Amino acid sequence: MPQARRDTTHHEVLDPATGRVIETVPATTAAGVGAAVTRAARAQEGWAAAAPADRARLLRRFAAVVDDHREELARLEVAEAGHTIGNARWEAGNVRDLLDYAAGGVERLNGRQIPVAGGLDVTFLEPLGVVGVIAPWNFPMPIAAWGTAPALAAGNAVLLKPAETTPLTALRLAALALEAGLPEGLFQVLPGAGEVAGNALVEHGGVAKIVFTGSTRVGKSIMAKCAADVKRVTLELGGKSPNIVFADSDLDAAVAATPMSFLDNSGQDCCARTRILVQRTVYERFLELLAPAIRSVVVGDPADEKTQMGPLISRSQLDRVRGYVPDTLPGIRGTAPDGPGFWFPPTVLTGIAPDAPAAREEIFGPVAAVLPFEDEADAIRLANDTEYGLSGSVWTRDVGRAIRVSRAVRAGNLSVNSHSSVRHSTPFGGYRASGLGRELGPDALTAFTETKNVYFSTEA
Ligand code: NAD
Repeated sequence: MPQARRDTTHHEVLDPATGRVIETVPATTAAGVGAAVTRAARAQEGWAAAAPADRARLLRRFAAVVDDHREELARLEVAEAGHTIGNARWEAGNVRDLLDYAAGGVERLNGRQIPVAGGLDVTFLEPLGVVGVIAPWNFPMPIAAWGTAPALAAGNAVLLKPAETTPLTALRLAALALEAGLPEGLFQVLPGAGEVAGNALVEHGGVAKIVFTGSTRVGKSIMAKCAADVKRVTLELGGKSPNIVFADSDLDAAVAATPMSFLDNSGQDCCARTRILVQRTVYERFLELLAPAIRSVVVGDPADEKTQMGPLISRSQLDRVRGYVPDTLPGIRGTAPDGPGFWFPPTVLTGIAPDAPAAREEIFGPVAAVLPFEDEADAIRLANDTEYGLSGSVWTRDVGRAIRVSRAVRAGNLSVNSHSSVRHSTPFGGYRASGLGRELGPDALTAFTETKNVYFSTEA
């Protein structure tokens, strides 16, 4: 089966549905990162000094240019990441929405006036300078924009390092930014290896903050390196999120929503509800209803409008998923195409122990484990029995229980009677090993500023 070739100067980009090479992209060296930081720092000075209304206008223009190219960006994401065309269109629209939302914040980035004796005290929210955004391959466009849009809006320059497998939409976005009139050097995309280009950003003294999304292992190492010069850091890491189904829920609705809660994007989603916790009194009934729903998920060509689930991103991701799910494990299995490309069928594991690796570790593929629980306390205990804390869902008709359980689950993003996690206007981020800091929502710009307090004496 094909594997992308990478050397120190170039990376091949494969179509994961066919395994064919679609593009070869130059890999940025550490020296290239250094030169980009110098250009970015120069551009940032002018950007921060520009009138807020002008910065807002340029970001809105960037959003409009992205909107004009939504279909092109979506097709590119289908080709490089194997996303279904429906998802990819939403993702390109999400970039537009993030830019619009951030543009609205430029002129509202208010400091405060604080009552003090003998003078006037005000705070300023000042840009950090040059921000490095290190993005993963699972949602290349939205996650790149989560960091980039608010960082630019707050007056920073951005250097975006996309994942090795998915640099194409990021490169296109940088070209569209220039087309919209953003200053040269302000938003640069640096494709390349994590250990080279990514690491150079993390270690560069001219980069004020790193926003990283990816594995918990790499996130921890980046946080340790950022400590060397007290670099600011936001981390969005892994998850093993629970989908808690109580016997008093609308069971048909809970079942209907379950397949895509962990199969969307072929399960390559940090918020995927991969631990399905079901109250024992309805456990058998839930599985009876779930089996046909899993088997009817349409897996195939991601460019086909009817497709619900495409391939995994790469050969190595396929090997990783297979490693967790030997054929001997009991469960419900859907179907997937044979032949070239990186395909794995929808899979629900039944009858595995809560401490089995497939029930505890982030697989990042179309695989969930179902575990029974006895009562509310047992559900909360199981939901929290993980190092992660990103998302989770609670299905119940009892409002009191919905409030109690969503408050008791230690995770950053809970939803009741739905599996929603991410909106550009609401905060997103993880507890514990799922991350540090929050992105999106009303405070997104503040995460890219330093607060400066200035006291003016009125007695001199
Ligand atoms: P990764 O953490 O290695 O890569 C994420 C990004 O970090 C990529 O851009 C990569 O080039 C960069 N990177 C890697 N090493 C780096 C380093 N030393 N310094 C700076 N940047 C570095 O993730 P992966 O290997 O592509 O995927 C492995 C697993 O990570 C997946 O199976 C999944 O469990 C998890 N993952 C989680 C998310 C998420 O959204 N939370 C996203 C991608 C992967």
